[in-house]
Amino acid sequence: MNKTTDGYTWTQAQGTKKGGLKCRGVVYPPEKTSSRQETYDVIVVGAGYAGLRAARDLATYNRKVLLLEARDRVGGRTYTVEGDDDGFLYEMGGTYVTHHFGYVLGELQRYKMDRDLIVSHQEGHENNYYTLNVEGAPARNVTHAEAGKITSSAWDIFVNVDGNSCRNICPLPHAQLDNVVVPREKVEALDKISCKERIDQIKHLLTAEQLGALSAVIMLVTGGKLENSSLWECIRTHALLIHDSANLADLWTTYKLREGQSAFARRIFDDAVDFGLEYAFNTPVTAIADEIENTDGRVRVTTANGEPFRAHRVICTIPLNILKTVKFSPPLSPTRQEAVDLGHINFMTKIHAVVEGSGLASWNGMCSPGFIAQGYGDGVTAQGNAHIVGFGGDERANFTPENEPEKVVASFQALHPMNIKKTVFHNWCTDPWANGGPAWWAPEYMSKYQDELQKRHGAIFFASGDWAHGWRASIDGALEQGALCAIEALRELRLTDASQDRRPKL
Ligand SMILES: Cc1cc2nc3c(=O)[nH]c(=O)nc-3n(C[C@H](O)[C@H](O)[C@H](O)COP(=O)(O)OP(=O)(O)OC[C@H]3O[C@@H](n4cnc5c(N)ncnc54)[C@H](O)[C@@H]3O)c2cc1C
Repeated sequence: MNKTTDGYTWTQAQGTKKGGLKCRGVVYPPEKTSSRQETYDVIVVGAGYAGLRAARDLATYNRKVLLLEARDRVGGRTYTVEGDDDGFLYEMGGTYVTHHFGYVLGELQRYKMDRDLIVSHQEGHENNYYTLNVEGAPARNVTHAEAGKITSSAWDIFVNVDGNSCRNICPLPHAQLDNVVVPREKVEALDKISCKERIDQIKHLLTAEQLGALSAVIMLVTGGKLENSSLWECIRTHALLIHDSANLADLWTTYKLREGQSAFARRIFDDAVDFGLEYAFNTPVTAIADEIENTDGRVRVTTANGEPFRAHRVICTIPLNILKTVKFSPPLSPTRQEAVDLGHINFMTKIHAVVEGSGLASWNGMCSPGFIAQGYGDGVTAQGNAHIVGFGGDERANFTPENEPEKVVASFQALHPMNIKKTVFHNWCTDPWANGGPAWWAPEYMSKYQDELQKRHGAIFFASGDWAHGWRASIDGALEQGALCAIEALRELRLTDASQDRRPKL
């Protein structure tokens, strides 16, 4: 299996090592292009799920498509590495799927992966409990059901702004801003509120333990701080959970792909290649220019080594927090530029730890505040050691895991005593092609910028999970955006074909 330059591993004996991890998402040889002089129908920038979906859809309609990707692999903010020593599959970014994600389900069915799921949490090991250790309350072990009840009862109070579990204010979560039931002004008013302000409104209704657990959950979900996370994002999330927090674990943290995310992303990519997709990995794009007067491929895409490519249309899937590193001409609209300059607020941490013995495979826990504030038992390696996946909020000011392994170890051990044999992780916050986790927005960001972010810019379309309609900040949202931009591009190319009589012969 090919190895990626992405990711880190750490052991006491060898210290921290960058890259060299086995990954099915790595494409080798990294390039397949027919001719450098070619004018493509569409250039897709970025091989995450948004880009893969767009490229595959266009290629299957017989379009000449070039996919340009900065990394050495497909999958973007999702990828799976296989442990050299244990064969275990570590999901470094996006992981959990469910049949309730419509776009995901469609793709899983297409590639016959919809039944090939595994369950993250395993019962039956020694430490089958939840360690709850939050600010303001004594630490204690409770059952998983009890822990779920403490957090979900607090969450229910937190999001219940309409007395009907958000059914009135967000009845159609894929159309939050303009739908048949709720006037836009009502949503915009709520979108101004931060999670901190909402907590201040309801904290008198919570026990100290509920308040501590709720604050920790929000910071983990948003990847930000309570002050800069929008309450609306939580309302949207609750609506997507079918207006019931009891669905949170089932929809969000239960099901993984047995073969891993990289196998899924690779299937979409290989399918596109079978339909003629051309590609170049290790090829960052630095500039995208819409030269409207140029009829033979009006968009010029320039890569970091100065090489230009031409296409009739471009679908750009570069994540929100790094869009500002690319030069667009004509310049982006002032509103989009403002959105890009502000970016999103999710700077989460995700770190895997392999710990001695299988006991903790049935354990979950929370220690907040903490660099790694939550840990989940998630399987047992071939050697019989428990795999724990740890999550933290925005800890950039005081924590860089690749440079501070001792803080990583101490942080896991604050969750529960454990003997860590190795850690495996990706730092999405120091990653030049992401600069953050999945996009969570600040107060008012949706009202001001969502429409603009989804708009085209001349012959350039923008697709990203970061500004999806529904499951924003998820794999489903990325697939949604890729599909929507691809169909728009296809429609326009048909019109160009008609005027230039160059419809592809089937
Ligand atoms: C830690 C973590 C956990 C998550 N957990 C889940 C989960 O459990 N379930 C879920 O559904 N979602 C989860 N997500 C979110 C999900 O992974 C993302 O929303 C989704 O993968 C985004 O897809 P995308 O195609 O929009 O962007 P990306 O995957 O980021 O793809 C964009 C691509 O563009 C490339 N690129 C960037 N700049 C350039 C450039 N200049 N030139 C060329 N290429 C460039 C990048 O390398 C990348 O490959 C998680 C994300 C993270 C980080």
